[in-house]
Amino acid sequence: MSGEVIDVHIHFGAPSDPNDPNGCYWSKEFEKTITYFAMRLVTKTLFTKVTIEKVKEHLLKAIGTSKKVQKGVFLGLDQVYDTDGTLRKDLTSLYVANNYLANLAKENSRVLFGASVNPYRKDWEKELDYCLANEAVLCKWLPSAQNIDPSHVECIPFYKKLAHHNLPLLCHCGPEYSIPPFDDQRQKLNHPLLLRNALDEGVTVVVAHLALPLFITDNKDYLNELFQLFKEAPGKNWKLYADISAMLFPNRSFVLQDEWNNIPQDRLIMGSDYPIPMSDFSITNSSNIITRIKLFFKTLFMSNPIDKNYELLKGIGFDNSVFTRASELFANIIR
Ligand SMILES: [Zn+2]
Repeated sequence: MSGEVIDVHIHFGAPSDPNDPNGCYWSKEFEKTITYFAMRLVTKTLFTKVTIEKVKEHLLKAIGTSKKVQKGVFLGLDQVYDTDGTLRKDLTSLYVANNYLANLAKENSRVLFGASVNPYRKDWEKELDYCLANEAVLCKWLPSAQNIDPSHVECIPFYKKLAHHNLPLLCHCGPEYSIPPFDDQRQKLNHPLLLRNALDEGVTVVVAHLALPLFITDNKDYLNELFQLFKEAPGKNWKLYADISAMLFPNRSFVLQDEWNNIPQDRLIMGSDYPIPMSDFSITNSSNIITRIKLFFKTLFMSNPIDKNYELLKGIGFDNSVFTRASELFANIIR
């Protein structure tokens, strides 16, 4: 896998389907979100019945026809559990089952299995063993949607096991607008500083979206916390990284330009956030008008969304190593 260009952040999601024995589902609440309609638009299911088969076909085609990106990590999302281990289907907005993605990755050489295991599950260890045995390349959390507090003491044994196997934790940080709930109490779970225990335990932590604000009304608290962690990382031997998925949003590009010199390129990892839609316009740090125009036309008619994201990120000026860094991390996983 070493040296390959890998997109570490591709979402999967589908309504419940009687033909899916793994039980993936999304909630009625999720069907009211803008993300839901945008995803249906992007996956061309806005005017037809959306099914797990259609979502699968669409995503497999996107990664399968990419000319720039060799592999994509399809992300699972575990259900909500109380800290005592009680399953809360009633509080779960989106569930993408590990066995569904493990099988998908087995059948498709361009797909990598991004597992998701809730640390509050009573059987978390068994589930994590299953994921490791089935070639998972990372564990994904979305704390506000999954009601996981990364600083909770229940997470410590979980972190020890992730660290033992060098399995990276890809954790959403920053404001969340895609998967409910969106209340302040839950958004507090998306703060980078809550990941200190994971880092202290030796976990390879990948902070999603560089913890950047999405809208102009969002503050930079999450980003400043991430910078604080980056500052401490060398002295504490922390294995801290951030992905650059969902960067192509107008406000994010302004923040990126402002903060460019504070962002450690050697800690970044490429991702898209597909099929959650982002702006398609090219954003570049280049002041050269010819370079800007060239990039605009180069990407304007690109039909493959994974390739388009790749080219637009290249245009922003991220270092070449950012695009292959995931393959280095994944090579270190001990199964
Ligand atoms: Zn995402």
